Amino acid sequence: MNSYFLLDQAARRFPDHGAVFRGTGQLLTFAELRSRALRLAAGLRATGRPGDRVALVSENCPEYVELFFGTWAANMAVAPVNAKLHPKEMVQILEDSGASIAFVSAKIVDALADALKGSPAEGCRLVRIGGADYAAMLGEEWQGRIESDPAALAWLFFTSGTTGRSKGAMLSHRNLNACSFAHLADMEALDENCTLLHAAPMSHGSGLYIPAYIARAARQVVPDSGAFDPAEFLALCESHPGVGAFLAPTMVQRLRLEAERSGARPRNLRSIVYGGGPMYVEELRKALAAFGQVFMQIYGQGEAPMTITGLRRADHAADDSDVLGSAGYPRLGVEVAVVGEDGAPLPAGEVGEIVCRGDVVMSGYWNNPKATAEALRGGWLFTGDMGSFDARGLLTLRDRSKDVIISGGSNVYPREVEEVLLRHADVAEVCVVGQPHPEWGEIVVAVIVPCGGRQPSPDELDAFCNDNIARFKRPKRYLFVDALPKSNYGKVLKRELRQQLQSPGD
Ligand code: ATP
Repeated sequence: MNSYFLLDQAARRFPDHGAVFRGTGQLLTFAELRSRALRLAAGLRATGRPGDRVALVSENCPEYVELFFGTWAANMAVAPVNAKLHPKEMVQILEDSGASIAFVSAKIVDALADALKGSPAEGCRLVRIGGADYAAMLGEEWQGRIESDPAALAWLFFTSGTTGRSKGAMLSHRNLNACSFAHLADMEALDENCTLLHAAPMSHGSGLYIPAYIARAARQVVPDSGAFDPAEFLALCESHPGVGAFLAPTMVQRLRLEAERSGARPRNLRSIVYGGGPMYVEELRKALAAFGQVFMQIYGQGEAPMTITGLRRADHAADDSDVLGSAGYPRLGVEVAVVGEDGAPLPAGEVGEIVCRGDVVMSGYWNNPKATAEALRGGWLFTGDMGSFDARGLLTLRDRSKDVIISGGSNVYPREVEEVLLRHADVAEVCVVGQPHPEWGEIVVAVIVPCGGRQPSPDELDAFCNDNIARFKRPKRYLFVDALPKSNYGKVLKRELRQQLQSPGD
């Protein structure tokens, strides 16, 4: 089914229900949203063809919702671009996607137009969201056929680029629907009294939840700031019913700190889905203490969006570190296995690469057959993440294969060491990476952001590790920094730290 029909069905049933809000103000009912989507579809088809990619380059804004459904009604695919990228990086994505039109926010449009000059994507038409040319695109409602080929490209999803250049995962309507239905079936039952509050980027994690919430006629709320402001988030939880949001782990921490500072106890906060990067057990416990049982975890990647394994709300209730520190159980409709280097499944307890298959898995990378052949083998998606199952089927992530440190022939999984160091009172943030070493191959290095004014000594930290983990996992070197390098999505860029530590004994 074309994902557009999720909106169509909701609009038939709840035409006068509030669909899109900016802050506390209602902008569109479901009937109005459908109408604007169809009018955009007509505008898109006036100049474009089915299968075209429609780029969206904007901070969070309410128009995302009509642009998604309008593009699908036009039988085209959305290609959202992270608004925090450098204009040159945006141009690279426009080139890669071959988009013929890009909807761009007022903040970005001039810089992007400049950066496009002389590039192969120069012909891409830029339409300023909310501007006169945007209004002019809204013609009569599209009356043409809306194809329902489940395999048609719906979303060209550019990965975060944490491990290298961002790749365009091709997601079909079938993929998007499988993600939405898995969310509704095994994570949370939604209805017209629920709200999706867009705090994380709609071009990425938060946007993936739009279809599921629309299918159930729930509200879409975009904060006035268009960004994540913890105080604004908490205030909006008072103004809308049954609020749910997707947050990256660093955002959960910021929200908790703000709630503790202000004493706010958001009454209507119903759910927080977190994922996209490691959530450390210490932090999760503090967040549970601050907000109660509202948390769900998802483990996924652009190639199988938000849907490989997950921890449901109830799984968080048992205060069990093994469960809280894991990535949960396979999601509904997804087969997940852990395989060895020969591709054969490994028994419970053994660490290998996580692979998965099912309707959520992309069909490949856009214009990148080499990367596709590496990722999709024998019908399985090879995630590049390492992990192990326990006897109950609980998956524990052990970092990306590229991040595993091999020191003196033993594998050290950075996350395990990071979890320990984070328990030290003087450690605010930590990142553990390998540094080349002539004798050991690699040594374990901990890069630490100290808490407040106090910098712990390496000896003190070593003694702390000695009490908690095996000797060979203990960092041989500690570096202290003011901040860790992070991507625009808040993920720590280990590759940058590794590059800085390239030469042995540096
Ligand atoms: P790129 O592939 O371009 O380097 P990226 O993989 O960071 O970018 P995403 O698809 O946004 O792009 O991120 C997916 C990755 O994030 C997963 O492969 C995994 O390593 C990590 N991740 C996702 N969910 C979780 C989770 N719940 N816990 C720990 N790590 C997670």
